[in-house]
Amino acid sequence: MTIAPRGPSRAVARGVGALSRRLGRGGGTSAPGRVLLRLRPDAIQDLAGDLARGSLVVSATNGKTTTSRLIAGCLGAEGWPVVANRAGANLVYGVATALLEGARVRPTPEFGLFEVDEFALPEVVARLAPRVVVLMNLFRDQLDRYGELEAITDAWARMITTLPEQTVLVLNADDPAIASLADGLHRTLYFGIDDPGIAIGALPHAADSIRCRVCAGPLVYSRVALGHMGVWHCPACGARRPDLDISARSVRLDGTHAVDLEILTPTGPLAAHIALPGVHNAYNATAAAAAAVALDIAPATIGPALAAAEPAFGRAERLHLDGREVVLLLAKNPAGANVTVQTVALDPDPLHLLIALNDRTADGRDVSWIWDVDYEPLLDRIGSLVVTGDRAFEMALRFVYAGLDRSHVHIVPDPARALDLAVSFTPPARPLYVLPTYTAMLELRAILVTRGAADAYWAND
Ligand SMILES: [Zn+2]
Repeated sequence: MTIAPRGPSRAVARGVGALSRRLGRGGGTSAPGRVLLRLRPDAIQDLAGDLARGSLVVSATNGKTTTSRLIAGCLGAEGWPVVANRAGANLVYGVATALLEGARVRPTPEFGLFEVDEFALPEVVARLAPRVVVLMNLFRDQLDRYGELEAITDAWARMITTLPEQTVLVLNADDPAIASLADGLHRTLYFGIDDPGIAIGALPHAADSIRCRVCAGPLVYSRVALGHMGVWHCPACGARRPDLDISARSVRLDGTHAVDLEILTPTGPLAAHIALPGVHNAYNATAAAAAAVALDIAPATIGPALAAAEPAFGRAERLHLDGREVVLLLAKNPAGANVTVQTVALDPDPLHLLIALNDRTADGRDVSWIWDVDYEPLLDRIGSLVVTGDRAFEMALRFVYAGLDRSHVHIVPDPARALDLAVSFTPPARPLYVLPTYTAMLELRAILVTRGAADAYWAND
């Protein structure tokens, strides 16, 4: 195999692509991009420049994979050939890998859809010069993984000053830090939820980012929808939630299965029944609708496309094992775990739970974040509870401290055995809710694949 050392990036990409095929595809989704960027440092710029309709990036602490999936549905409904990165490959090399693979498929991709890690975003954006930037939320992640939220927000603010002037910003108006990122120069579409029916009343104690970005004064909320997201204002300086361009006016939570939404957009209303549960998915769907509006996709196309989208793996994904439904609900940080607990609690019947806590690099090494999660709403509802993972004992301790009798917590560190036990506790007509951290989700999903309950990683992702 020959790699053209001075040819255009597309030729280099073909060479690297052939190499990666010979090495075999698999979980290492970023390796080809790493090789490509070593050979051709400007490859992302070159290959992105070939995308006739440009590209879109999505970033957030929570929801970027699901939102990308929903946006992909809208792009598919428009018939655009799309290149997209995989959920676990959301750094610079992962984007390069996706573009590399896109350079050798037919039809030639016309549009790039990339979900990007919060810290990698400025570098990816500098290389891609995207047509649309979707910024959804910033929550404190696992305690040790990244620095302060303010550092990310500042880096994003600097990034926005470097965007091409035609780039459209899609910002979550309900998240004060995200809303503050508008620079007045780029066209901005604000999205948010305007349904008083879903207000949770008070800030949960895991809430982050409740200081004003302008004057550092404390923000006041007239309505909280999720975490620190809601209708906010600053009494000290007058900063307030911007008016919404894309607003979810009616949000009906359909238990642990779905959300019904009515969304107003500048080009007309749309309604969608999303097969994903919880308020967080109402935000994801509204963000996706706003992204589609930014790409001039009609509301009549957006609604059905959102309704047809299927869950990304591990994100409210429903699988079947031994006659039971197994619902994978990724819970990787305090905000995500809290909304997952609230969603599971919508099920009125006794809950059968498998909670999996790992402490590997992608999970965050410090698991003390579980003490910021309000598991208490589950306590009186538990039909069975199995805890598993590298730190199963800490998770058990969390529930015992919350008030659950020790005899009701089954500690099984091995995930395959834990899954078997949890399934055996679950009556045939009931779902087993699985709340794993990121690497625990990958492990459990792999076990479900070997048992025929799920498609392999590549087929689903
Ligand atoms: Zn202020």
